[in-house]
Amino acid sequence: MDPVRILADLVQLPSINPMGRDLPPELIHESRVTAYLEKLFTSHGLRCLRSMALPGRENIVAFLDPPGPASSTILFEAHQDTVPIDGMTIDPFGGRVEGGKLFGRGACDVKGGMASMLAAFLRLHQKKKSGMPQVVMACTVDEEHGFHGIQKIAGSSWVREKDPKSIWAVIAEPTQLRIVNAHKGAVRWDLITRGKSCHSSTPHLGENAIYRMGALVPVVEAYAKKLAQGPRHPRLGSASLSMGMIKGGTSVNTVPDSCTAQFDRRLLPGEAPLAAVEDFRSYLHSSCPGDWFEVTEPWLAAPALGDEHSAELVQGLGDCLRKVLGQSVVEAVPYGTDAATLGDLGIPAVVFGPGNIAQAHTKDEWIETDQLYKAMEILILLVEGKSLN
Ligand SMILES: [Zn+2]
Repeated sequence: MDPVRILADLVQLPSINPMGRDLPPELIHESRVTAYLEKLFTSHGLRCLRSMALPGRENIVAFLDPPGPASSTILFEAHQDTVPIDGMTIDPFGGRVEGGKLFGRGACDVKGGMASMLAAFLRLHQKKKSGMPQVVMACTVDEEHGFHGIQKIAGSSWVREKDPKSIWAVIAEPTQLRIVNAHKGAVRWDLITRGKSCHSSTPHLGENAIYRMGALVPVVEAYAKKLAQGPRHPRLGSASLSMGMIKGGTSVNTVPDSCTAQFDRRLLPGEAPLAAVEDFRSYLHSSCPGDWFEVTEPWLAAPALGDEHSAELVQGLGDCLRKVLGQSVVEAVPYGTDAATLGDLGIPAVVFGPGNIAQAHTKDEWIETDQLYKAMEILILLVEGKSLN
């Protein structure tokens, strides 16, 4: 099947990740895309399974098993969800093709990458021959918000029962057909200060939780500075911490008894999300004794992607890029992806796909259709290059 045709179909099926907001039910969640994919796989006679990652939100995974035993697996992964459509200046679900571009929400991030993978997958299915690796196409939910889809994949038996080193994972994101083999991770949590509320006309009778948060702010800032001056990754720079939101109080005439701040900590490869939170917690408690504040458990945790397992995959994919494009570029990027969750299991994982991240999440999101064909061709070569002759 033509990747442009598949992409137009996918863009016409809204699959917005509401990210905690209240949006129209006919636009949110991945079920329409999941149903389309199931029909696509089964109509081609491919084995597939759905698995619930969140209520009503299912990953769908299809398996292309070669005749005879396969000694290795190539896993294609792409997320089904998109970001919301606020402020878009084009029809978000039109899928219009004009001037070599296809327009719509998700065209670039990452239904375009998914379409290239699906087209390659179906082509490989037609050509199926013994000696080729098993190819798995995993279409996950909730990448744009909580990473629940890929966590479900990482825990599934068909991944766990394999030797991680026997898998090569390619994660679709718009990398402009470059290979991304390293990126930072992220962990997010809350800091809550507690006080005692009373009427604001007698503030001496209360304990103001906002003042208490204020006392912690310079401590946090010093910690963030220390982190920025800490160990540097040669390609990703230093780890970082940002205090992004403070919320406290209920009304101007009440002394507030609670104040909450939110943190975004960016991780380097090798840093465990939970350990990063624990380090912050113990720094705060040793600098400010008392039980009037609490550092919560993280509500989002995604590791960084390191390049320690993926050298052979980068080499193999790089050969395919050179054949199709005449060159191959390997880079590190600042944004996080599903690749890190697989990399954490010791699975060689890279990020690769058509489209430019600069067009992701934009008001007139588009992708060059030419890149869809090139990505498809490169992915087919990757599998064929891994086949036994
Ligand atoms: Zn994406």
